[in-house]
Amino acid sequence: MRRHTGSDVIVVGAGLAGLNAALHLQEGGARVEVLEARDHVGGRVQSMRQLGHSQEAGGTYIGAGYERITAVCARVGIELVDVTPMLAFFREQDLVLDGELIRQSEWPGHPRNVLPESFKTQMPWTLHRTLAAQDNPLPAPERWLDPEFSVHDVSVRSWLTRLGLDESGVRIAYDLNPSFGNHAGDVSALLLFFRAAFSVAQRRLAPDGVLGYTVENGVQRIPAAMSDLLDEEVQFGKTVTAITTGNHEAEVRCASGDVHVAPHVICALPVGVLRDVIIDPTPPGLQGEAFRSLASQPVTQMYFGHRSRFWDEDGHAASLFSNGPVGMLAAARNGRDPKEVTSFTAWNMGPNARKLDSLPEQDAVRTVLKEIEAVRPASKGKLEYLGLKAWDRDPYTRGAWAYYKPGQISRFASEMGRPHGRIQFCGEHLSRIARGMEGAMESGEKAARTILGM
Ligand SMILES: Cc1cc2nc3c(=O)[nH]c(=O)nc-3n(C[C@H](O)[C@H](O)[C@H](O)COP(=O)(O)OP(=O)(O)OC[C@H]3O[C@@H](n4cnc5c(N)ncnc54)[C@H](O)[C@@H]3O)c2cc1C
Repeated sequence: MRRHTGSDVIVVGAGLAGLNAALHLQEGGARVEVLEARDHVGGRVQSMRQLGHSQEAGGTYIGAGYERITAVCARVGIELVDVTPMLAFFREQDLVLDGELIRQSEWPGHPRNVLPESFKTQMPWTLHRTLAAQDNPLPAPERWLDPEFSVHDVSVRSWLTRLGLDESGVRIAYDLNPSFGNHAGDVSALLLFFRAAFSVAQRRLAPDGVLGYTVENGVQRIPAAMSDLLDEEVQFGKTVTAITTGNHEAEVRCASGDVHVAPHVICALPVGVLRDVIIDPTPPGLQGEAFRSLASQPVTQMYFGHRSRFWDEDGHAASLFSNGPVGMLAAARNGRDPKEVTSFTAWNMGPNARKLDSLPEQDAVRTVLKEIEAVRPASKGKLEYLGLKAWDRDPYTRGAWAYYKPGQISRFASEMGRPHGRIQFCGEHLSRIARGMEGAMESGEKAARTILGM
């Protein structure tokens, strides 16, 4: 066992939250060491360069108002690429319900469209987002934790039912390939309102017409550049298994047997992983309960290249949105010309992802291809499997992002981020104002400021 001392703060986890915390601490004069289980930084920002065309497995889209991310990019000379011209194409996708391909133009009058008359023109993938924007009680994203809004910490199902949808309508509007939870009964409507208010705030901050950005040659350049700014190199291969907090210092144990000791620890681990790490003493009351019970969303992406433009042959949109194993088949447009499809990603979320994850890789690929080829015979033999990323099976993430079940926001959100002895917590699950990558940065900055007494 090696005992490492000498730093003021140990940061556990080199994702955006941990790296931003480390940079703020360093700028505040603290000596910082960063421990990371993988052999690279970035965590849920993961550019799949091996697949070509700047393919991303994690954080991709940078909102026009991501002020922390854009400030870092400006500081290190990373230019952002405007993705607005590509986003327009994301609306072009056909619907597949139980193996039947339905064009957008057919949907309003289609027998499977059981939505109330006023919602019939909305495609299933946009309906709950449109409604969350229109019916949003939150005047600003940062208000989501105000007790006055806790009445909205009810299931998405109750909210949609209040808006006039019946059980079948709710299934169409939310459950087909849900980005939070297993179904509409499993997620808090307040979380959707927070996300919608955050999107509106981002759009308000956008310069004329710009909806967002990404990074040429991979978003992972951002965490890589952040780690280059640290005086002490990130220590890789350090899988933390236990954190013990005493009165004056905290001790961090790694699977290798090494022990690191410092007056402060910032734990920047995803909530799904936190459960695997022994925290001694156990965080009390609601904080401990939150760490044990907050869920993370399974998301599995499968990447395909294409040998020819099969969508020109069958006249359908290049992309699909299905309630079957293909999930959302998104045509990526990562080249210079947004009209050019560079590859495809099949996005599966929630129960769909779990089903695919339960299969051996080749069977999972076969299942997805079988559905695509059944609804689009022109695609037969035209898609080439490139690889997959199953976030739920990643031992250093265990899910793509945290989500709240009905009632959990009011119960846990204000307790989860409390300091516990010498430990501060941060990570995307603890963002209060922003979401996604910017939320992770926000939470890291807050943890560092608390230690620096700012
Ligand atoms: C599929 C997907 C798409 C996304 N798309 C977007 C998007 O378009 N826009 C956007 O803004 N956000 C997006 N996000 C969200 C964004 O990527 C995350 O919110 C953000 O990167 C999380 O940062 P973090 O630092 O909180 O966590 P992480 O990045 O997960 O960092 C945690 C770090 O801890 C390390 N670690 C884990 N266990 C241990 C251990 N035991 N010991 C030591 N180290 C450990 C991990 O390896 C990791 O490096 C997406 C996420 C996913 C998964």
